[in-house]
Amino acid sequence: MGSEKKPVEEIQELHRQLVLPSDRLCTVEEFMPGEGVYVHGGWVRSATVGRAFFDWKQRIVSVINAAGKPRMPKRGSTVYGVVVSLIREDIVLVKIFADEKQRRYNGSYTGFLHVSQASDRPVKSILEVVKPGDVIRAKVLNSKHPFQLNIKLAGMGVVAALCSRCGAPLYRVPGQQHLVCLRCGNKEYRKVAPGYLYVKKGR
Ligand SMILES: [Zn+2]
Repeated sequence: MGSEKKPVEEIQELHRQLVLPSDRLCTVEEFMPGEGVYVHGGWVRSATVGRAFFDWKQRIVSVINAAGKPRMPKRGSTVYGVVVSLIREDIVLVKIFADEKQRRYNGSYTGFLHVSQASDRPVKSILEVVKPGDVIRAKVLNSKHPFQLNIKLAGMGVVAALCSRCGAPLYRVPGQQHLVCLRCGNKEYRKVAPGYLYVKKGR
């Protein structure tokens, strides 16, 4: 199974053809997954009914549904993503899932956020401003996969975060710098965006 591959001629034949959900398009070694596809057992498969589109230059395969070209982040786009993991002390991996109107992409896109694009103040680790599990609103800095992100620009930042001690939502308390967990009292800092989801009311 592992060494199985789709012959180039078959891929060329599949290009622009109608495919169905779970149809095998190629192996992950041949093309990177783009929009409208998912990876299972080493194969890139269609996630939707549409036409297969192989980008030979960038080595990305997508399935474009009837609506036309796949929506894709590009330079200057505002996107929503979830912080997945710490890659290095200064970089986190982000799964980009929606555009600026919070419309979900068919698939998801890989993004990277470097500490220099996340914080104006000097920090030892990027985890001082974002943490895995955070949902961020970010600006896309380049036009190709994987996308470089920025949350320092106006309007960008963390829009939802959970307490890293107990998992409950972290609340923004008007007038306070830190976010507060109303369940356990934990306080954590984030680079918060305008319109942060959880805001403590009253007082
Ligand atoms: Zn907590």
